[in-house]
Amino acid sequence: MNDCNVSRKFLINKVLETAQDFVDTDRKGWRVKMREFHDAMDAFDFSGREVREAIAFLEARMIMISFTDHDGHIYAISVVPQRYRCEFCNMWLDMQDDPEDHIDLCRRLQAKMKRNRELLDSTKAV
Ligand SMILES: [Zn+2]
Repeated sequence: MNDCNVSRKFLINKVLETAQDFVDTDRKGWRVKMREFHDAMDAFDFSGREVREAIAFLEARMIMISFTDHDGHIYAISVVPQRYRCEFCNMWLDMQDDPEDHIDLCRRLQAKMKRNRELLDSTKAV
């Protein structure tokens, strides 16, 4: 392990953590408050180039989306929600997990949902 990798990992983690901390919850779209974000990056002493590299890394992994103007300047960042809802069983899942790991549990949950529905139907019929 060399220093370069350690500091890169630190940078990427900090960029992500900071972006998540400053998500504007008043608005839709998980937009990051840019002024607060920039101030935090300055406080960490990260250069604009380092921050752009970290964002590109996160963007390639579908963790973040950046919006750039004609000059390639990033004017907005959106953090991709790391959870999504399984359309079959409604359970919240982590984007970074392997969806195949969920299949067994999903089948069980679907069977349970079906049983509950049948139970509900049978009590209604009485
Ligand atoms: Zn499921």
